[in-house]
Amino acid sequence: MKKAPFWFLLFLLASCGDSTTKQTTPDMKGKYAIAIHGGAGNLVKMNLTNEEQEAYKTALDSALTEGSKILANGGTSVDAVEATIRILEDCPLFNAGKGAVFTHDGHNELDAAIMNGENLECGAIAGVRHIKNPISLARRVMEKSEFILLQSEGAEEFAREQGIEWVDTSYFFTQHRWDQLQEAIEDDKTELDHSGKKKASTLSKPREEKFGTVGCVALDVHGNIAAGTSTGGLTNKRYGRVGDTPIIGSGTYADNTTCAVSCTGKGEDFIRLNVAHDIASMIRYAQVDLQSACDSVVMKKLKDIKGRGGCIAIDCVGNIAMPFTTTGMFRGSIDVNGEKKIALYEEK
Ligand code: ASP
Repeated sequence: MKKAPFWFLLFLLASCGDSTTKQTTPDMKGKYAIAIHGGAGNLVKMNLTNEEQEAYKTALDSALTEGSKILANGGTSVDAVEATIRILEDCPLFNAGKGAVFTHDGHNELDAAIMNGENLECGAIAGVRHIKNPISLARRVMEKSEFILLQSEGAEEFAREQGIEWVDTSYFFTQHRWDQLQEAIEDDKTELDHSGKKKASTLSKPREEKFGTVGCVALDVHGNIAAGTSTGGLTNKRYGRVGDTPIIGSGTYADNTTCAVSCTGKGEDFIRLNVAHDIASMIRYAQVDLQSACDSVVMKKLKDIKGRGGCIAIDCVGNIAMPFTTTGMFRGSIDVNGEKKIALYEEK
């Protein structure tokens, strides 16, 4: 495990967390970085045609490009995270907003969270059915309410008060997600026939192995980091089920003094380990660098409990880590030197 270099610890102490003492080190001036994910999963290359792979890459690329423009123009990391996630939410390829998966009883219930690493302010929403861009509602909860997590009708009533864009539930219908639900329900039935026994519950075993949640972490030119995540959850989930995404510290976390993290995968595994906050804690208490912290939490602890998924993470100097335990995670990043990366599968 790699200890963080001494200069980095000094930098964090001197520059992060306390706005009165904040200084930007000379070589960080004007620098920004951004990373996104479009979900992880046990993805087999052959299951996606070349055209489909290209479509995912193009969608990731355009979201990344828009987010980085905001940062290049001096926008905040919170602005970049929200805008980038809105683009991914509007794209039916991903399991968030327009492309959200269905619950067992045929609804779309959306969760989202955003966190500002500069001041630890955060907002989250769970189980909303009419909000076109859940990430914007999460931001509104962060900025315009005294609460952190609002759910279901309460969250939607707040959205109406705030003038957040509202859509009919039919907006979220996509044929491929509907078909995925039917397949999952069929799988459950088949399993029942084969075993010959009645299972206690088929609802707690979602079949989808591609987690299409979207997330973004960013470092702005002011030296602040932020994280956001948005999801439809798991195909065939029981209605009312809430995953890790809106649980601050599990699926989403940001703190200038450590890192910003957005996770994707089977939410229950991430909640159990409090993955996003645990990565931050490794940096704080074990004083390791970002990559080592991610490796120890995702590639070791999460793997040990057979957890499926991954995360994207960034720190105050623009280091980026994108570990995952699955065979793929749709992801992209632009680092502090402007180098862009987009990938879908494991890199050998
Ligand atoms: N983590 C999300 C959840 O469990 C699912 C995903 O990442 O696609 O709700």
